[in-house]
Amino acid sequence: MGNGAATDDFDVDLFVIGGGSGGVRAARIASSYGATVKLAEEYRVGGTCVIRGCVPKKLMVYAGRFADEFEDAAGFGWSVESPRFDWATLKRNRDAEVTRLEGIYTTNLMRAGVDLVADRAVIEDAHTVRLVRSGKTVRARFILIAVGAHPVKEPAIPGGELGITSNEVFELERQPERILIVGGGYIAVEFAGIFAALGSRTTLLHRGDRLLRGFDDEIRDALGAAYARRMDLRLNRTIERLDRRDGAILATLSDGTDLLVDQVLVATGRRPNVQGLGLEKVGITLDTAGAIPVDRFSQTAVPTIFAVGDVTNRAALTPIAIREGHAFADTVFGGKPWAVDHDLIATAVFSTPEIGVIGHNEDVARALYGDIDVYEARFRPMKATLSGREDRILMKVVVARESDRVVGVHVLGHDAGEIIQAVAIAVTMGATKADFDRTIAVHPTAGEELVTLR
Ligand code: NDP
Repeated sequence: MGNGAATDDFDVDLFVIGGGSGGVRAARIASSYGATVKLAEEYRVGGTCVIRGCVPKKLMVYAGRFADEFEDAAGFGWSVESPRFDWATLKRNRDAEVTRLEGIYTTNLMRAGVDLVADRAVIEDAHTVRLVRSGKTVRARFILIAVGAHPVKEPAIPGGELGITSNEVFELERQPERILIVGGGYIAVEFAGIFAALGSRTTLLHRGDRLLRGFDDEIRDALGAAYARRMDLRLNRTIERLDRRDGAILATLSDGTDLLVDQVLVATGRRPNVQGLGLEKVGITLDTAGAIPVDRFSQTAVPTIFAVGDVTNRAALTPIAIREGHAFADTVFGGKPWAVDHDLIATAVFSTPEIGVIGHNEDVARALYGDIDVYEARFRPMKATLSGREDRILMKVVVARESDRVVGVHVLGHDAGEIIQAVAIAVTMGATKADFDRTIAVHPTAGEELVTLR
């Protein structure tokens, strides 16, 4: 689709809207091919993942897990006298780390020769964006939309404004003594684990009968059982209204009960940031999820406009946005067209216990491959023999019978995210169950169970 410098008709070869994971990667790679690139970010460089998502969240997960470590240490002979947790210290250190990363992202963009503009950009036509604060317009050969998504509070209820979302949770100056978290997806589950571990009295409320729709059912049940031990888990219920009560929040639930808490975190999904972007002007119509429809090369209905990441709602995950941004730049500016494979995606949920998944659950595997074989192991991790902790590890391997290919691996337990990243290489390469079987176990580890399943 053409390389080379901007011509007289255009100010730049590429205008990227959004300085998150997808936009930054695309801008840097396009620039490395000699394209002139401008990138507009209205908030902070780094996007949701760095500023108010994966990174600060994972730091909070680490903070929470010390609580288990202190408890577990006793069985190994340690006495840890009444450990105390200080929210303000964690927040200060975490915010500083996010700011450090924001600086690195900004420096990397500048080093790559990308012109970074702190402004909101609106699309005017197939080649033109307008910068809202400065009022300037920029003509670009190509436009990339990488504006991400925002959390939504569902359903709309009386007093709903009293609830916060995952954006505001990182701004809390004080740790809530009591918190109600609404939702059963990644974000609700991860924050419920964090707050419970940090010592907040945590209630997780979900409308369904199991957490984490779409994940393997046994993993969902095992997580539910672990969470019921760690917090107040209330399934098959919704929230009906929120009222202020004596400096706290009174939540009225659909089962007729009330709950008095200090914070309500609503984590009921995210929607693409398409509002006011000017899409209607260029004739881009949204899909039913409110996302921008694109083809496998991330091209929209307008040939000069591409979109990557959460705004396209393919798989709302940072590494996918990065891959899509990279593929876009290689395809459009590098003369090396390729498309991201969205079929086999490894992912982790940083709940405690943690979940790691690559490939399909049993139902999807059966629908895709017909006969399947399922191998599984449930066991007490070695460390729990002395610590006395109740949590079990669950590992499942789903195999397409005819080809013997491993088409799904599901792990719940300590380090599941780390384990699944390594296994994902094998599964992506097309490993068979026989390949797993001939792999020598690393003993004693939890991961060895994956190669000893019979
Ligand atoms: P999800 O879409 O994953 O989950 C939304 C949850 O809210 C579901 O449990 C859903 O229930 C529930 N819900 C939706 N509407 C309502 C309603 N009207 N009333 C009550 N409950 C409702 O969204 P998240 O906000 O958790 O996360 C957004 C995305 O961000 C994730 O899908 C993931 O792609 C990404 N993410 C990834 C992380 C990671 O990789 N570790 C971490 C955090 C986010 P139901 O199941 O019944 O539909």
